[in-house]
Amino acid sequence: MALALFNTIGRTVKPFISLVPGKVGFYGCGPTVYDYAHIGNLRAYVLHDILVRTLIRAGFSVTYVMNITDIGHLSGDNDTGNDKMINSAIVSGKSVLEVADFYTQAFFTDTERLGIMKPTIVCKATEHVADMIALIQRIEAAGYTYCSGGNLYFDITKFPSYGTLARLRLDELRAGVRIDIDKNKHNSQDFVLWFTKSKFENHALTWDSPWGRGYPGWHIECSAMSIKYLGEQFDIHAGGIDHIPVHHTNEIAQSEAATGKSPWVQYWVHNEFLVLDKGKMSKTSGDFITLQMLVDAGYHPMDYRYFLLGAHYRSQIQFSYQALDGARNARKSLVDKLLLLKEKAGSTSGTPSQAYLASFDNAMENDLSTPRALAVLWTVIRDPKLSAADIVATVAVIDGILGLQLMADSVAAPVAIDAARIEALIAERTEAKEQKDFVKADCIRQELNKYGIVLTDTPTGTTWRIDIL
Ligand code: AMP
Ligand code: ZN
Repeated sequence: MALALFNTIGRTVKPFISLVPGKVGFYGCGPTVYDYAHIGNLRAYVLHDILVRTLIRAGFSVTYVMNITDIGHLSGDNDTGNDKMINSAIVSGKSVLEVADFYTQAFFTDTERLGIMKPTIVCKATEHVADMIALIQRIEAAGYTYCSGGNLYFDITKFPSYGTLARLRLDELRAGVRIDIDKNKHNSQDFVLWFTKSKFENHALTWDSPWGRGYPGWHIECSAMSIKYLGEQFDIHAGGIDHIPVHHTNEIAQSEAATGKSPWVQYWVHNEFLVLDKGKMSKTSGDFITLQMLVDAGYHPMDYRYFLLGAHYRSQIQFSYQALDGARNARKSLVDKLLLLKEKAGSTSGTPSQAYLASFDNAMENDLSTPRALAVLWTVIRDPKLSAADIVATVAVIDGILGLQLMADSVAAPVAIDAARIEALIAERTEAKEQKDFVKADCIRQELNKYGIVLTDTPTGTTWRIDIL
């Protein structure tokens, strides 16, 4: 079969046909860099990565654009609350740009550890304000805006299909009684394109504009940057389901208002949430788990990736350490089996099984069914009818799409290790962590893992034991 994706517009699985044959323009909403990404956020980027790898496997050349929100994202998506970046800067005593740089780096350290490929283009909101102003001018010239209380707003009543993505009904929106703290809005769903009379008197970052000195609303950045890098109409836009009713709804309205072209985006792909047993994981409430916390608890980042792939991206997942243990054991078992198979195959190079690859592709092309794809992987690795070399060759292809690093990790320890060497490596790792070089610290942990040495980080230092299981 050919690739089919669930499109939030229309709520059906549709065959994927790109606007330009063989090419895909893909925009994924990136992180707001005021804090570490939590493992829920990282679910969104694992999905982007799986989608990109599947598109490449299906023969497309993909331009994947990701924004970095370093300005203007308020704690309420609907122009309410405080600016997340400024709050973080005040709390940490740093400048907004220092905060943004720090957490952007931390974000890419996490995505690298999860085997997420770097986007083709990473673009920062603060470096694209001129593009946002130019786009707002087009929206204004087309008659969709009004100025009120010094801010420039998008008038949703001028855009009749407003809310189609989220299946919002305009008449209901108008009739509903709502408490809205922004008294300047004509309709509560209207949203800010440009703030001049800031709620925050001393806003750290402001720019000159035709509407006065100020700063952009949050939604305009994604429209401006995606249009700049992917054109006025493109193939796929992704993000978490929380973005459907406000952020993506507003992005569509302002982009189509500016260009007069519809649909702006052909396929909308949204991942469901990762939740804690207590409910939503949220950066704003501070109640969240980071990848580093999992690593400190002794997990390999790939254990978390395996855990995510065990569920379909459109199903909500409840995180638990018990479930993560299950993922770790499953992945370890795959790695161990692969190691044995590689030893058995020796120097013989195998041929991938086309039948298994067809089943695997079928699963992935059916709206990225990673649970089914994992089932294929387990079947092939245990198939007694295939030679060891052919299994290894088949798994190598599958591993390249699932990105679980099974091939890389299934290597035998080259030399024995003694206690002095272990202590020296732990000291090197502690030093790397102090220098915030988490990639190096991880490599050392993984290196020790290969010898069956398991590290535990405690408040008084790192201890180690030999895992005899
Ligand atoms: P943010 O950094 O808050 O702008 O969010 C980055 C991405 O993570 C967005 O695509 C969100 O929709 C997504 N997201 C936020 N929370 C979760 C969660 N608990 N589970 C899955 N995705 C999430
Ligand atoms: Zn966005």
